[in-house]
Amino acid sequence: MKPHPKLKNPEACRTCAMCCKVFTFYDHDSDGFVERVRLLKTDKIKIEKTNLASPEGQRLYRVIIDIPCSALELKDGKYFCKLFGKRTRPLMCNQYPYDITDWEERYCKALK
Ligand code: SF4
Ligand code: SF4
Repeated sequence: MKPHPKLKNPEACRTCAMCCKVFTFYDHDSDGFVERVRLLKTDKIKIEKTNLASPEGQRLYRVIIDIPCSALELKDGKYFCKLFGKRTRPLMCNQYPYDITDWEERYCKALK
């Protein structure tokens, strides 16, 4: 599989794995979604207001799930995806990062 074209330094993923240790996704605040997530009795799921907007112009919130993926492996100090090259690997993992947000600018070492 070819490295993602936006990643200038894919080897950095071997020592990073940030996008596999923490799962982030975005949604707008419909029907009290933001408050509902904030009420969860856990410190493993957080929500942040962003400056991003949906195609319909609604402000997007970032949901941060601080739970590592079960397919992430650490071997000899380097990270590997057990599903790499397999059909069962989620499409979003193959496509990451689709957008470069302030989150990727903060954490993605492969962009630098
Ligand atoms: S955050 Fe970036 S550098 Fe880190 S593992 Fe994901 S794609 Fe690689
Ligand atoms: S499936 Fe692989 S690439 Fe996707 S989050 Fe899990 S370890 Fe990372």
